[in-house]
Amino acid sequence: MAYDSTNIFARILRGEIPCKKAFEDDHVLAFHDIHPQAPTHILVIPKGAYVSAADFGATASDAEIAAFTRAVARIAAEAGVEGSGYRLISNHGPDSHQEVPHYHVHILGGRPLGRLVT
Ligand code: ADP
Repeated sequence: MAYDSTNIFARILRGEIPCKKAFEDDHVLAFHDIHPQAPTHILVIPKGAYVSAADFGATASDAEIAAFTRAVARIAAEAGVEGSGYRLISNHGPDSHQEVPHYHVHILGGRPLGRLVT
């Protein structure tokens, strides 16, 4: 799937749409989900143009992958959910209901989340 630069996260990265920023560095932007599913619901996205986890894993540089992985853990810790626990979710493709075709990881926490069933 080709990257569509009109997607909403690309527009956030270009500053065309505001976001409630949680973290930013050279490779990564994180912001609070507009429709939070838990007290902590943060989206972490790479600044590069990647459609999904598969695209990111296959084509991003080692530096981007390392920065992203480290940022996810740091953002969760800074959000205060390191001790209580959190869930990482990344939807890939239609069966997962991926709505935004720019790779992102959801950080969910701040309450007991129950079992992951579907
Ligand atoms: P799903 O909507 O099925 O969870 P995704 O995994 O693609 O699909 O997640 C997209 C997420 O982006 C949703 O949780 C949605 O609430 C969030 N979102 C959409 N637009 C914005 C926005 N402008 N700012 C912050 N979050 C947004």
